[in-house]
Amino acid sequence: MRMSQVVAPTLREDPAEAEVVSHKLMLRGGYIRKVAAGVYTFLPLGFKVLNKVTNIIREELNRAGAQEVLMPTLLPAELWQETGRWQIYGKELFRIKDRHDREFCLGPTHEECITDLVRNSVKSYKQLPVNLYQIQTKFRDEIRPRFGLMRGREFVMKDAYSFHTSEESLDQEYRKMYDTYCRIFDRLGLKCRVVEADSGLIGGGYSQEFMVLAETGEEEIFHCSHCDYSASRDSAGVGAYKSPGASGQGPGMEEVSTPNVRTVEEVSAFLKIKPSQLIKTLIYETEQGPLAALVRGDHAINEAKLKKVAGVDDLRLANAETIRKVTGAPVGFAGPVGLKGVRIVADNAVELIEAGASGANKADTHLTHIVYGRDYKAEATGDLRYAVHADKCPRCAEGKFEVSRGIEVGHIFKLGTKYSDKMRAVYLDDKNQEKVLIMGCYGIGVSRTVAAAIEQNHDKDGIIWPLPLAPFEVAVVPANTAEKEQVTTAEKLYHDLTAAGFSVLYDDREDRLGVKLKDVDLIGIPYKVIIGKALKEGKVEIKSRRTGETVLTEPASVAAKIGR
Ligand SMILES: [Zn+2]
Repeated sequence: MRMSQVVAPTLREDPAEAEVVSHKLMLRGGYIRKVAAGVYTFLPLGFKVLNKVTNIIREELNRAGAQEVLMPTLLPAELWQETGRWQIYGKELFRIKDRHDREFCLGPTHEECITDLVRNSVKSYKQLPVNLYQIQTKFRDEIRPRFGLMRGREFVMKDAYSFHTSEESLDQEYRKMYDTYCRIFDRLGLKCRVVEADSGLIGGGYSQEFMVLAETGEEEIFHCSHCDYSASRDSAGVGAYKSPGASGQGPGMEEVSTPNVRTVEEVSAFLKIKPSQLIKTLIYETEQGPLAALVRGDHAINEAKLKKVAGVDDLRLANAETIRKVTGAPVGFAGPVGLKGVRIVADNAVELIEAGASGANKADTHLTHIVYGRDYKAEATGDLRYAVHADKCPRCAEGKFEVSRGIEVGHIFKLGTKYSDKMRAVYLDDKNQEKVLIMGCYGIGVSRTVAAAIEQNHDKDGIIWPLPLAPFEVAVVPANTAEKEQVTTAEKLYHDLTAAGFSVLYDDREDRLGVKLKDVDLIGIPYKVIIGKALKEGKVEIKSRRTGETVLTEPASVAAKIGR
């Protein structure tokens, strides 16, 4: 392709609207243009990269025996009502009405649609297992679309759904998809980590996320220094220390007047203690009545974990009135000592606090030197909080957590019968009995992978594409288009490299060399072949975008030097 012909309007400056690197560089490199908030056009370069990703995904899924389908974007409300997600999904679901006032949504995910297809088309155990996938545009009505392709309202996804007669068959397919995903991201040239994850709105049982590692990533990944445990912040378990707990040998508890001192920072500064000595007491309302949850002042409560430990389904922070009713004090002065008529659950770390402090259930008053077991007790202790750096690994109990950052690009789920039960998706087994289908589902954010690849691979000059993703592998750049010999050599190289199977961007513009190189670096082409002064000695220069390494060589050996 000739650069003079490519519609790739590059920009010198960072666009003000872009907050993250991938968004900035895709706008600056002429890859995408905004149409509306969270809605983008892929320009030729952007579409080339998107297709590179979809081609690799398609090849690997086909190789794994999955079959490609294309479901509609427009989905009838009735299907979503069958599983109850029409209500649960909330405002992120793009809902529309047709001219007859029938309700539809623009699909953010297709569990209902595929389950409907399979319940009507697959009747016998002999047709199972089956794995169907599609690559398609999805929609999500983000409250604040931002970060370019990272969190758009319209995005390209690969979603696959498998159907089984047994858990063993599901396990087998899940492992196959895990391996397939590893191969996909490996072929894309991206460094990834797989983490245990929370299943969120898709639900079901076990799930894992594939994260592209990047310092700019929006998610924290906790991985063990000793074993291979790795989890997202939402689902990382925290290993408990086996310890007899606080000794209770110290001084007895004391009441301290703390007028208008409420937050963890204020209280610990006022009492001259560390935030880790403070016992944060959060009052919740649940379907089983009020609940007090205790965590250390420097820890953050994880409500999903709290639900499990407390055995409740519905949980929300109590309002000021309930707090006053339960504790007898205004907000900010709750504590576990003497708390009556409310269930108390505590995080594992709370038990170990020597000489703790907490609210006294009395306005403007705190208690100090309180000890678990001596002054208060919880009905249950467990893992209630988000993990932090250096926490103990819950699996091997030997390693400590290290934290890195990443971007979620893939998510695989064992759904079980969550959808098939509700939608009555059944098959006939070998005894002609009706059985409920067991399901798995497997997603990859295709457009998001493009953005994540840039977050992982860039420098101050622009994008550094991994070779398999680059819109062009080689840029041929004559230094001075007024020099006839340079142009002739460049033209010949462009044709020869193209004939040899390389995808080549020929910068035939009459601009200065500096301007052309800046554009080629911004766009992120892995190799540049510069035809300049060295041509007098019969040499051209090959420069690697990633390493900056330069080699001088005869034009005829460029293809061999670049290789693949
Ligand atoms: Zn471990």
